[in-house]
Amino acid sequence: MTDEPVLLEIEGLVKRYEAGPDQPHLSVLEGVDLRVGAGESVAIVGPSGSGKSTLLHVAGGLCPATSGRVAFDGRDLAELDADELAALRNRELGLVFQDHHLLPQCTVLENVLLPTLAGWQPPGRGDAEARARELCARVGLGERLAHRPGRLSGGERQRVAAVRALINGPRLLLADEPTGSLDARTADELVDLMCELGDELGVSLLVVTHAEPVAGRMGRVLELRGGRLHPLPRPS
Ligand code: ADP
Ligand code: MG
Repeated sequence: MTDEPVLLEIEGLVKRYEAGPDQPHLSVLEGVDLRVGAGESVAIVGPSGSGKSTLLHVAGGLCPATSGRVAFDGRDLAELDADELAALRNRELGLVFQDHHLLPQCTVLENVLLPTLAGWQPPGRGDAEARARELCARVGLGERLAHRPGRLSGGERQRVAAVRALINGPRLLLADEPTGSLDARTADELVDLMCELGDELGVSLLVVTHAEPVAGRMGRVLELRGGRLHPLPRPS
């Protein structure tokens, strides 16, 4: 843990899925505790089905906890109304998934600008299109702004997804197996970029990954097992 202020604080998080009438519920998270400090990077590893995506979704306010507390910058997510939660997700959190989730009919530039359509501007960072062009250039996509995702490689598409997640200047980037569909070298390049941009822009990273080299780039590695998080020694 760092001495930095706590950005994301999760205490005693329990998440169960209802399995249907007369079926026992499926208990996925059974008391997760996690604190992510400002500027920190944390990897979450664990077997398939252990609840990593569920944890990221609850942390990102995409689905509610069954019980326990999830707070961002001291604000309890359960106490926010739908508009406040939407604003928090749009302004303070960036999400990157295994599949890029880009809109196929929109260009790279349009995809990157989607989160800015809600009309909010991060203070002091220039206009949205200038930021988008600058970030795309930064990740080597300066010449691809008018291309549609179908014409890009898997690594390029994930870089677009990362830039889109960063366009509103979030404080925390949540990434769910962002390199899962990439070969090792392309995965390395993506993680390098995410770490570099995270540092430069002061964004904390919470990254779910299967890939040891990716986990090794994060400041801490935690394993999700039996519904709880356990610290792992950093891979050397
Ligand atoms: P991981 O990302 O570690 O592979 P997930 O969080 O996707 O794990 O899933 C954990 C468990 O919860 C799995 O058994 C999965 O089938 C179940 N699960 C995930 N999402 C739902 C859902 N929306 N409804 C019911 N069960 C779900
Ligand atoms: Mg998953």
